[in-house]
Order: sequence, then C-alpha cells, then structure tokens
Amino acid sequence: MDLMQKIISFSKRRGFVFPSSEIYGGFNSSYDFGPLGVLLKNNIKKSWLDEMLKNQENIVGIDAAILMSPKVWQASGHLTAGFADELVECKKCHKRFKLDELKERECPECKGEITKPKQFNLMMKTFVGSTEDENTVAYLRPETCQGIYINFKNVMNSMRLKLPFGIAQIGKSFRNEITTKNFIFRMREFEQMEMQWFCDPKEEDKWFDYWKKQRLNWYYNLGLDKNKLRAKEIPEKERAHYAKKQVDIEYEFPFGWKEIEGIHNRGDWDLGQHSKSSGESLIYKDDKTGKEFIPHIIETSVGVERSLLAFLADAYSEVEGGRTKTTESTKEKEIVLKFDKKLSPFQVAVFPLLKNKPELVKKAKEVCKILKPYFMLQYDEGGSIGRRYRRQDEIGTLFCITIDFDTLEDSSVTVRDRDTMKQERVKIEKLAEYLGEKCS
Ligand code: ATP
Repeated sequence: MDLMQKIISFSKRRGFVFPSSEIYGGFNSSYDFGPLGVLLKNNIKKSWLDEMLKNQENIVGIDAAILMSPKVWQASGHLTAGFADELVECKKCHKRFKLDELKERECPECKGEITKPKQFNLMMKTFVGSTEDENTVAYLRPETCQGIYINFKNVMNSMRLKLPFGIAQIGKSFRNEITTKNFIFRMREFEQMEMQWFCDPKEEDKWFDYWKKQRLNWYYNLGLDKNKLRAKEIPEKERAHYAKKQVDIEYEFPFGWKEIEGIHNRGDWDLGQHSKSSGESLIYKDDKTGKEFIPHIIETSVGVERSLLAFLADAYSEVEGGRTKTTESTKEKEIVLKFDKKLSPFQVAVFPLLKNKPELVKKAKEVCKILKPYFMLQYDEGGSIGRRYRRQDEIGTLFCITIDFDTLEDSSVTVRDRDTMKQERVKIEKLAEYLGEKCS
C-alpha cells in the first residue's frame, strides 16, 4: 500500500475523515470530518485566527455570507473567462480532464483522442427565491475574499481603522472542480482561511515580503518539516489575471510538491472593480498627507483541508516492530502521529490501570473531572496499558495518565510523554499546572 493509501485508510479507521455518503456508494470528492478530524480542523483554524488576530497587529475578523449578489461575481471577473478551466474530453472513454494537467495531447487513461478544449466555469449555481430562472440565479462563493472586499468600508469605518490593516476570514468556498483526485487535496466544497492586507501602493512590496515570511513561519511554528516546505515564485504567465506578484507555499505531499497557500499582490484590482461596478467610492484618504488612493491588497489564502492534509501527512510515522520492546509490540507496526502540541486532537488521555477495580476507575474519573475544563481529554479503560498507549500515540495524544494502586496511597499518577515515552510521577493537585505548562 502506498503512503497516501495508508493515510486514507488510517483517517477513516481512526475517525479523521470519512468518504461522504458512503452508505449510498459515496459522493465524488466530498468528505466528512469525523470526531478527530473536526478537533484537528478546529485546532488549525484556531491557530490561524490566533496568529492573525492576536500575534499580528491591526487585523480584524469578519464572517461574510456565502451567498452574495451576483453582481459581485460580475465585478470580480468570476462570471467571465477569469474563473474557468480549460476542459477536454476523451472521445473514447468520455472522461474529462483539465488541459493543463495533461502531459500529452491524449487521454491519460485509455490513450484515446481528446476533444478541443472548452472553457468550463467553476462557479456553482443555485437559485434564491421561489422561482428558478435567470433573475433568481445566485452562486456559492468560490473564494471567501470577495466578502471582505465588499465590506472594506463597513469594516474600516466601524473599527476606525487606518492603513495598513487586515481583514481575516475563515469560511466555506465551492468550486465545481473538474478533477478531484488526491483525497481531500482538491474538493468541490472546502474551507479557506484568507487574510486581506490593505496598504499604501508605495509599500506593497515591503508587505508582500513581510507576509511571505510570516506565513512560512506559521507552518514552521506548527512543526511542519522545513525540508518539505518551499515558497515558489510564480512567473507572470502562470499567475491569476489579478495578481501582480504571486508566491505559492508548497508542501511535498506523498504525491509530489503542491500548493497549500497562495500569497498574492492583487494591487487595486478588487477594490477598483467594486468601486466601478457598484458606484460606491472605495478610495482611502490619508489623514496626514491628504493623498487619496485605492488601497492595494496583499492576500494570504490557505485551504483548511489542504493544510490539514499536509499536517497529517507530516505527522504520520510508522515504526516497524514498535517503539518498545515488549513481546506484544515487537510483533507490530506502530503508528505515531507526531502532531505539534497546538494541533493534537487530544492533549491528554486518562487510564485506570485495571477496569475491574472500582476504586481505580473512580479515581480515574475524578482526575478526568479535574482536567476536563482545561484539556481535550479521552478516558480509556480497555486493554493493556501498552495497547492503550499505542492507541493514543496513533492519534497524537500528548500525554497519557495512569491511575494505579499507588495513586490511592500517595495521590500521584504516572504521566507518560508521547514523544520521549518517559514516565513521571506527578501529584494530582499539581497535574493541571504541570500539563498546562507542557501543552502551551
Ligand atoms: P489550485 O491551483 O490547486 O487549484 P488555486 O491556485 O486555484 O489552487 P487559490 O484560488 O489561490 O487556489 O486558493 C487558495 C487556497 O485555497 C489554495 O492554496 C488551497 O489551499 C485552497 N483551495 C483552492 N481550491 C481548493 C479545492 N478545490 N479544494 C481544497 N482546497 C482548495
């Protein structure tokens, strides 16, 4: 089994990602996030929001609607050629492909002849209201940033912001992608974390470099392997039409180097277009110099699921024969998810040594109650302690706590570290503080 297949089946087995509508035979390119997937996803989103709203200066949040006036998409260029892929079809097997993904001018599957390329718009259509006609057509947004641009003035005025400032948003986007292989890498429904930085045109290059550096640091700080991360400058002919400059942050997935985040200098394209189309002036006046101009935008845009896949692939490791040399584990292959402490779905697991000793179970539940307000925690009483350790290592839990007979005498527990496997005795009254320091 190749690494990607292993990650896909592991994700299902341990409740990270399930294929959508599985009991009906599946639904192409949609995925559901299971109990652990949702915790991981939330940790990624929290870490991004903390970075933008707490660690950086002068950034505020927004949560714009998915459905917007279709005029937004006229102005942004999405309803014209700007947001289309070139699509070809195999005349023999009728499979469809993106032209830019084909190495040869023939069907990659059956070598059949392909049709001439056709423009294929990626916008997902729906209808708003009780009739289904041209007047009620609306679109599911294909990117979250337009909701930010059209609220530029509302946000600036309500928060009394001065340039440079940023607006950050996390939300769903939809694209009718032609090809959707590689698990959750490319989907038709996905979430984006986008931050739009509004600045004086004179400073756009400085800010572009600043954001490129900051965004790379975010991944480094979350423990992503530096050797598998790179910033790739995109030449003009491959850039989106609005981008004056573009750097893709790429990660080396098991299926190759691929983009996980785009950093774009969008210039005055977006606010300029919305000014023109809506008739509402989106010009900024500098209080000090009196200069008036349309702010330029540096965008950082990352997919939640795509970065999740990078974090998951990066954390996934297999140890043949196991990390410990007990008879049980030497026969097995052990999986350890080496998530950064900010990303692990569970920080702590609590075990009574034996499940058939009511006094141990009672004490373990008391410890759970103490720790639950502070940590994402799992209680497990099934199987040997060794097996329970491995079940937790497999999902990246940082610390396992065992309540044994000594606990009943001395009110201390064994705390075992996922990475070093070292064990320490810690007093129950000090446990929350001890773990708090280690997990922060
Ligand atoms: P690609 O070239 O892979 O289609 P893109 O250049 O169209 O991506 P952008 O429009 O720059 O992507 O979107 C920013 C980010 O949103 C991407 O880096 C990616 O993380 C995420 N993203 C875009 N499309 C999808 C998708 N179909 N499924 C999952 N994530 C996506």
